[in-house]
Amino acid sequence: MTGGRDFTLKNVSQALRPSVAGSSSKNTVSFLSEWMKLFSTATRVSCELLSSRRNSLCVTWKVATGMALSAFLLTATLAWSQPVPGSLDVHWNEGASDCSATPQDPLQVHKYEPQTFILRQSPCADFEANFIYLLIGSDKALLIDTGAVADPKAMPLAKTIVELLPDKDHKKLPLLVAHTHRHLDHRAGDPQFASLPSTQVVPFDLEGLRAFFGFTNWPNGIVGIDLGGRTVDVIPTPGHNETHVAFYDDRTGILFSGDFLLPGRLLIEDAGAYRESALRVVDFLKARPLTHILGGHIELNAAGRAYRFGSHSHPSEHRLELARADLTALPTALERFNGFYARYPNYILTNPIHNLVALAIIAVAVLIFIAWGVRRLLRRRRG
Ligand SMILES: [Zn+2]
Ligand SMILES: [Zn+2]
Repeated sequence: MTGGRDFTLKNVSQALRPSVAGSSSKNTVSFLSEWMKLFSTATRVSCELLSSRRNSLCVTWKVATGMALSAFLLTATLAWSQPVPGSLDVHWNEGASDCSATPQDPLQVHKYEPQTFILRQSPCADFEANFIYLLIGSDKALLIDTGAVADPKAMPLAKTIVELLPDKDHKKLPLLVAHTHRHLDHRAGDPQFASLPSTQVVPFDLEGLRAFFGFTNWPNGIVGIDLGGRTVDVIPTPGHNETHVAFYDDRTGILFSGDFLLPGRLLIEDAGAYRESALRVVDFLKARPLTHILGGHIELNAAGRAYRFGSHSHPSEHRLELARADLTALPTALERFNGFYARYPNYILTNPIHNLVALAIIAVAVLIFIAWGVRRLLRRRRG
């Protein structure tokens, strides 16, 4: 099933959002208000008992209880607003220089924490070796990207996802399939989800995506997806591609950044839009916890050198996760970008179109030079 807007979406005003967001902020708020009611009732009752004997004791009692309540609430709020911890202690499949000689599983599944899964397509299944993310809430689940391989026999993505989904009311949890952007390596698996029950696939074209999420002022504005006890904010991030969005998960504090930010080549289509996007994300995350930035690919080795484009072998890969410092450095890096190529410790900025044009100009110049040389040689011989 495709399209529709049955999933609960809510426009999120950044200013109105709490500065720290826990996975169960709504539950936390109601729990805290219950505690506050209990405390105030206890204070009132005990004060009434005391005040019948001595009034000053009652005042002291009220102040002491108030201070204890404040300390309790502060500690509780800080503790509950921490992101749920997870593990990235995993060795991703590196592919092979001869994939036919070393058969391997097409899909690697890593449990970050019980409600967050990271899936990696083998570099042998497709050189893009995409990372795909499954976030499970109490009412529904969100799948971010469907990877580079369409054939369910070669890449059993939908089957694997359904197995990972928990049951609710004797049925699998409803699933929303969204994309970081429209490039084929992030949505080739979509048809596998087309006939699944209780599954919606977000359109990948700009108009369809904006309408689905309810963006009225693209690329400004942020939309929250309510998964039940877990909100995922959708942040427009055009620049690599006009349809690009990043996803911020309040349960884990992870930013899922697709091709916008990853340990590899940041392919720039529109440097101005890219920089605006980077500033938008930096601003959004300013007052929010950020545990990791997880992108769509790994294209660098541990020393920061890029693998050959199209390679099925990724020996000693760079770690997947990037940090806040990589994000905050991005707007300046984009501002200084020379339009062709710039290397940073954890990513490379490049504009493939500009580089192709430059290569074409160099190739034409070389051809003209050769033609000039040949003509001169022939003239000399004749002379
Ligand atoms: Zn892309
Ligand atoms: Zn990609």
